[in-house]
Amino acid sequence: MATPANKDYYGTLGVKKTASQEEIRKAFRKAARKYHPDVNPGDKKAEEKFKEISEANDVLSDEKKRKVYDQLGFYSDQIDPAQAEAYARQQQGGGVPVDFGGFDFSGFQGGGANAGPNSSGWGSFKDIFSGIFSGQQQQHQPRGPQPGTDLEYQATIDFWSAIRGGNARIQIHRQEVCPTCHGQAHTGGPMTCPECNGTGQVTQMGGRMKFNIPCPRCGGSGRVTSDCATCHGQGTVSRTETVEFRVKAGTRDGQRIRLAGKGNAGVNGGAAGDLYVIVRTGTNPVFTRVGDDIQVTVPVTVPEASLGAKVDVPTIDGRAQLKIPPGTQNGQKLRLRERGVESASHPGQRGDQIVTVQVAIPTLNDERSREIMRELGKLNPQDPRTSLFEKV
Ligand SMILES: [Zn+2]
Ligand SMILES: [Zn+2]
Repeated sequence: MATPANKDYYGTLGVKKTASQEEIRKAFRKAARKYHPDVNPGDKKAEEKFKEISEANDVLSDEKKRKVYDQLGFYSDQIDPAQAEAYARQQQGGGVPVDFGGFDFSGFQGGGANAGPNSSGWGSFKDIFSGIFSGQQQQHQPRGPQPGTDLEYQATIDFWSAIRGGNARIQIHRQEVCPTCHGQAHTGGPMTCPECNGTGQVTQMGGRMKFNIPCPRCGGSGRVTSDCATCHGQGTVSRTETVEFRVKAGTRDGQRIRLAGKGNAGVNGGAAGDLYVIVRTGTNPVFTRVGDDIQVTVPVTVPEASLGAKVDVPTIDGRAQLKIPPGTQNGQKLRLRERGVESASHPGQRGDQIVTVQVAIPTLNDERSREIMRELGKLNPQDPRTSLFEKV
């Protein structure tokens, strides 16, 4: 949509306001011959000029459009001649608000009772007049309660606290209800708006027309309140806070804990948001946690792996005995049932401990041991690589 700012279409075409359609047509042809892009290749100024005269011709050569333009000083395809006429009449005479259907001027009637920012049609009118009212923004409109936003923070919990449960702390930055104005965003009672001197109306020029519009400062109410100095009218202040929270036994890495009401404060009495803590669980030099299972690598001797044995292994509850079956291989995994972590989601259930056997090969420093190892080799002459060759 074209910006309806004061465009002098008659001046653009160089004709009088009383010009006949024939005069307009001739003037346009003459100008078009001069500024047509085909005649002025690459000339940006000529192109702009051609656009202007085309626009002027488009409006003035059409009797309906010209009528609207003559009434209002601009043309919009959203206004029909009857509306423009009614509006112009009303501007001169004042009086009864007129229903303009889809195009509502009622928010702009001087001295009208219903001149608030919420009167219907404000949005569309404002859009159309965006060129006139550019830079004007509605401020200090009363807002209803608005809920505060949620916050999300990560917190690292040490390995044991995540398994056994406990209390943890986290430092967060959150918006809190302003202690000075208690979230009201202003201090002191309402006073007369300095912008409109309490009338609720200010005058704006639109083309050749004067429009009374609701005061953008006070929203048409004529009263304003002074912003709270502490929160600068926000109603909330930013604060660093240490929040303590409970970690359930069995909490897993990546788990989200919701702390209701610990998010940002709401505005105008709106409820506070929630704080979500994403738990990162710490590590341990011996144990590796995978879900509710605990993994640990345990070294065993060649005789223990070969002959079988009962060995002590560490678990999260202390020492436990693990049976190494005879002929256990390096890297073999053995399971200690229900020696893992108690589930946070299914209390009473526990994960397992998975032991990876690591066979420690002895370094033989004496002749007697080496003799025994050689003897062992002779007694067990199998070649462990045979199958390798078969598979190739
Ligand atoms: Zn405040
Ligand atoms: Zn005002």
